[in-house]
Amino acid sequence: MKNIKTLIEALKNFYNQETISYPIGEWPGKKYSNIPETLRGKPKVDEEKCIGCEACYNACSAFTIKFFEEGNERKYNIDINKCVFCGRCEDVCPEDAIKLSNEFELTYFPERKEEKRYVKWIKLLKDCKNCGEKFAAIDQINKIHERISLNINPKVSEEASKDYEIYSNYCPKCRKILSYKIGINPTKYYLRLGRG
Ligand code: SF4
Ligand code: SF4
Repeated sequence: MKNIKTLIEALKNFYNQETISYPIGEWPGKKYSNIPETLRGKPKVDEEKCIGCEACYNACSAFTIKFFEEGNERKYNIDINKCVFCGRCEDVCPEDAIKLSNEFELTYFPERKEEKRYVKWIKLLKDCKNCGEKFAAIDQINKIHERISLNINPKVSEEASKDYEIYSNYCPKCRKILSYKIGINPTKYYLRLGRG
């Protein structure tokens, strides 16, 4: 008798949708069946746009953006298990290179840990022409050059641009030493380092 009741109930509900398919099922009139565009999910990084400035690293509220250097590469990663999806990294990125996507299914099987748990990207580093130390991402150096050329007084932009090309070949420490040796103030764009 109980089974018959259950069967009747099942037949009655056969054509009545009671559930939606996970996670993006449609249910007319039920907005929550769609993932909102504004959902703050897994951060994604556009490696081409990133200049390696480290602003996201410095701003990360959960200290989950890390990097280490290997050879001429600086390797960044975000551990999704520690991310609190605050969006600070996106807010501070000067290049719109990091954005919180609406990807929210963040569980993974152990064999997919590396791929699913970490967001990874790499920037190439510049060697100091004097001491050989790697001191900044090449893309960041180039971006600064571009901005100087665009924003500096046009009367001196050519000279400043040439000087920057020379100046940016040296790490901060060597810049100071070389500037001192040739008797110039390193804080002014128009001052020259020894060329060659
Ligand atoms: S969303 Fe917040 S916690 Fe997550 S990586 Fe960005 S700054 Fe860090
Ligand atoms: S450009 Fe953006 S993503 Fe790249 S290091 Fe700077 S803040 Fe982070």
